[in-house]
Amino acid sequence: MSFSDDVRHELARVIPGARCCRIAELSAFYELAGFLLGANNQVLDFNNSSPLVARKILLLLKGLYPDLPTQVLVVKSRSRRAQICTVRVLGRGPAGQVYQDFKDQSVLGELEVPRKKCCRRAYLRGAFLSNGSITNPERAYHVEISTEQSRLAEKILEIMSSLGLDAGVTQRKGSLVVYLKDGGQIVNVLNLMGAHNALLRFENVRIMKDMRNQVNRLVNCETANVDKTVKAAMEQLEDIQIIDATIGLEELPPKLREIARVRLENPYASLQEIGNLMVPKMSKSGVNYRFAQIRAKAQQVDKLHTKY
Ligand SMILES: [Zn+2]
Repeated sequence: MSFSDDVRHELARVIPGARCCRIAELSAFYELAGFLLGANNQVLDFNNSSPLVARKILLLLKGLYPDLPTQVLVVKSRSRRAQICTVRVLGRGPAGQVYQDFKDQSVLGELEVPRKKCCRRAYLRGAFLSNGSITNPERAYHVEISTEQSRLAEKILEIMSSLGLDAGVTQRKGSLVVYLKDGGQIVNVLNLMGAHNALLRFENVRIMKDMRNQVNRLVNCETANVDKTVKAAMEQLEDIQIIDATIGLEELPPKLREIARVRLENPYASLQEIGNLMVPKMSKSGVNYRFAQIRAKAQQVDKLHTKY
């Protein structure tokens, strides 16, 4: 099961305690996934891909209209994996009643955007359950709710913004997609919708990822240092070999001859380690200075050598 399914299943079980919120959540289902169908508009359908969400829609509807004639249909799509669960309000009278109640919002007694914060959160949950998805945080931080209606995209944006969420909008295949990409904002939206278990899992992944990034940064830094040490050592060995092949190492002053010998015996040692092997011990900068002198000598003899 995907992370998105987990979140959906968790939220499908959240039934708001307050009547105002139950209406607000149902209005999200109505606006995003409710359709009046039939020649005489004799049915009102609420569609969803999850049976658990369909069950929730049914509970919310029955809570509001106890005697509503309803039916639940499950249609498997041809691709087999997907299915559509439909909560159907039967009969022209009842279907029309519910449709009209939500259309002119007499049932809500509310403005276009729910006034109370509790209801805005409930609306957001309904919108997510209807048309939303969340990417597994291991892969990416992404939450989205899509709709073909620009009015609803604006409404979702406005609600998110009023709850402190800074969402973006993009277009995809004729739909408007309202999305969040920031890890912290996704934690907030999960909290606002009431997906507390998913929130904990999301946070765990986020912490692990942060730690992994930190370790990777350290390892990369360490690798860069090792590369630098090896590269410097290779250059020093090259200088020593040039001198050895031309004038011979015995021609070097004793101080330089000694450090060249130590380098030849310890090709992978860092400057610090070379310094520790010298008698008496030498500082890193002292070692560096001697290798610079060897470099100068090597360049000098190399020039002479190529001349002849
Ligand atoms: Zn409310």
